[in-house]
Amino acid sequence: MSLKKLVAGNWKMHGLSADLAEVMAIADASRQYPNVDVALCVPAILIERAARAVPGFAIGGQDVHYAEKGAHTGNISARMLLDAGAALTIVGHSERRDALRESDEEVKAKATAALSCGLNVILCVGESLEIREQGKAVATVEAQLGASLPDGIGSHAELAVAYEPIWAIGTGKVPTSPEIGEMHAAIRTRLRDRFGTAGEQVRILYGGSVKPSNAGEIFVIRDVDGALVGGASLKADDFMPIVAAAARVSLP
Ligand code: PEP
Repeated sequence: MSLKKLVAGNWKMHGLSADLAEVMAIADASRQYPNVDVALCVPAILIERAARAVPGFAIGGQDVHYAEKGAHTGNISARMLLDAGAALTIVGHSERRDALRESDEEVKAKATAALSCGLNVILCVGESLEIREQGKAVATVEAQLGASLPDGIGSHAELAVAYEPIWAIGTGKVPTSPEIGEMHAAIRTRLRDRFGTAGEQVRILYGGSVKPSNAGEIFVIRDVDGALVGGASLKADDFMPIVAAAARVSLP
């Protein structure tokens, strides 16, 4: 079964007021591709302005706190993201798992809090190069999923999983198509184990050096339901050809 593709940009710590023009260009151009869902996860401080600038287009956060409110200096709750106009959030990005020592349990709590508040979630998993070279990539990602997937998915917000091999992020290196296919099939099995038939509807995105030049070959891999795109999402000229590639392999 093929799911509608989702192409989400992760702007990381890039973007100032002047870059809202790029958000508008991407939102505008995305209207040409109604058979693809497109989203941009921008720095928190830009969410409200971006959401106001492009009504109806999905703007997201890059992280969320698991608590509803309280003494968590510098953090942002799911309700705050929604209140600012976000429709989704990334959780468990490897840059946060690594730099901030975010655990699977914390990622699970974040995903659960966001979904129950009505925010769509992109939950990231992925292995290091060392783990891949040891032949333990699939087992490692399965363990990450086991501990970081929420226990259930309600019907009012959508979960997606992004497979992002750490060694492919921002490096220009990409796993082979069979490697991506093997991992996405394993993730699909875990999603079915956890959520039953609802697990069939969870989109599995690939992330890691997706570019206009390789998007087409990635999107035809079985169980690749879209992409999480970092560097190539900052400019409409780079991002829109990736969206167009997703549209080409999708039903009209
Ligand atoms: C990311 O950070 O989620 C990512 C996939 O980055 P890049 O596309 O730059 O590799």
